[in-house]
Amino acid sequence: MCIFCDIIDKKIPSSCVYENDYVYCFNDINPVAPVHVLVVPKKHFEDIMDIATNEECAFYMGEVAKAVNEVAKIKGLEEGFRVINNCREMGGQTVKHIHFHVIGGLKLTEKMI
Ligand code: AMP
Ligand code: ZN
Repeated sequence: MCIFCDIIDKKIPSSCVYENDYVYCFNDINPVAPVHVLVVPKKHFEDIMDIATNEECAFYMGEVAKAVNEVAKIKGLEEGFRVINNCREMGGQTVKHIHFHVIGGLKLTEKMI
């Protein structure tokens, strides 16, 4: 269905950080920080706007939030980190399968907000 579905199905190799029945978390191939993990629901939803019309998407987003917590602990980010979701064209989303970037391992200073 998409490149992240292929990664989840192990058709494309990736570096797994954490997974359970609902989420797959793996190292970004083009990291912008010492820690850059993608947290991805195992079911294909296009973007965060799906949550409004899709109950199942809402459920998976809860699991994504829990997985962010797990990744932060695994990667030793208890002092802080940033979570980014790029949504649709204007948000710079390149892979049309909802995902959250967990970025950390350095003091993050470049802020838009
Ligand atoms: P976005 O621009 O928010 O849609 O993020 C897509 C992210 O997927 C980028 O940060 C890419 O570096 C990352 N990416 C694309 N292909 C792969 C891959 N095969 N393995 C790991 N990360 C990937
Ligand atoms: Zn997909």
